[in-house]
Amino acid sequence: METKNKVAVIVTAAGSSTRMGGDKKEFLPTAHTKGTVLSAATEPFFSACPVEALVITLAPGSGTEGIEKTKKALFASPILQDIFAQDSSPKLFFTEGGATRQESVFKGLLLLQEKYPVDVVLIHDGARPFITANVISKVYKKVLEQGAAACGVPPVDTQKEVDKEGKILRHLNRSSLTSIQTPQGFLFKPLLEAHIQASTDGIIYTDDTAIWNTYVGSVFVTEGCSENKKITYPEDIYLLKGKTMNIRTGLGYDLHRLTEDRNLMLGGVHIPYHKGELGHSDGDVLLHAITDALLGAAAISDIGEMFPPSDARWKDCDSKQFLLAAWEKVKNAGWQLGNIDCVIAIEAPKILPFRNAIRESIANILGVSIEQIFVKAKTAEKLGAIGSGDAVEVWATCLLQR
Ligand code: MG
Repeated sequence: METKNKVAVIVTAAGSSTRMGGDKKEFLPTAHTKGTVLSAATEPFFSACPVEALVITLAPGSGTEGIEKTKKALFASPILQDIFAQDSSPKLFFTEGGATRQESVFKGLLLLQEKYPVDVVLIHDGARPFITANVISKVYKKVLEQGAAACGVPPVDTQKEVDKEGKILRHLNRSSLTSIQTPQGFLFKPLLEAHIQASTDGIIYTDDTAIWNTYVGSVFVTEGCSENKKITYPEDIYLLKGKTMNIRTGLGYDLHRLTEDRNLMLGGVHIPYHKGELGHSDGDVLLHAITDALLGAAAISDIGEMFPPSDARWKDCDSKQFLLAAWEKVKNAGWQLGNIDCVIAIEAPKILPFRNAIRESIANILGVSIEQIFVKAKTAEKLGAIGSGDAVEVWATCLLQR
């Protein structure tokens, strides 16, 4: 007869996702589930074993805002919503992780020890959304038999050991090698004690199997699956999309008259000049064109419909507000920015000295990297309304992906 074991799952979502270009990968939507990377990484545990507590480790300094965002990502899954809506629902804890994965797991273990001690703990990367209940259940069963287990797959490529210069030192026998994934599962108490010891010794280990191996004993590998990949690089987004990526382009255009006694605003940057854009708002022609490009790409609306000039609310308003409100809508529809490129047609002044300030300002408003934004200026060779200095025009294109 199987004795009843208390099981907890620690899901690490503590990374800063710098390799993903700033987007927290755990919060990205997936195509294979109704939810996010984080919810997809968590959901299958509840059908694989009797989970009584879930701990999510967050990035250090996440604060209450980080917890709210993480909850939102977690409960994007209707299945998890249901599980946690029940009277006898599992415990849910959040804790800020540490500088290393080891520290984050350690914090999760200490939290469990304090709030809800268990018999078995399963540890999983929040960025592995393709984990299946089948793989988890094999790890869980092996933990009950042996005390420690992790899933793994045979390496596909031939493996070599190399030195720092890349010179091959050893030709490894592939048949005896395995690529370890998560989840990794352990009896709770010995793992906690091993972590305390590792922390006292001040040694950083590659993962929890190494810690267990050093301080406790043997770890057994169960059959993983090659799909159980970790989302790490921006191109891994293709994995989330079932290999096809949805992309859309947008085009925005705007023109404003230039008159004396108005500020020349371009991309949220005030350019010193004796004229500026006439307009109901601050007249930032560049932000208006970008706002329209984004709204158009997502087929949501346009700037005139969202912020009618007839509405007194927008009188002299900072156009950043338009862009921010539009961008929120676009993001909520699941889109991410590929890039924005713009042409400003203006006779004077020279825009080049302000280019990087403008790019940075737009990138800051959108919360993207400056590399995703480009602007360039053209004169009109003294022809027409642009050439006479009576107007400024902007064309903006953007690429969105989801
Ligand atoms: Mg306008």
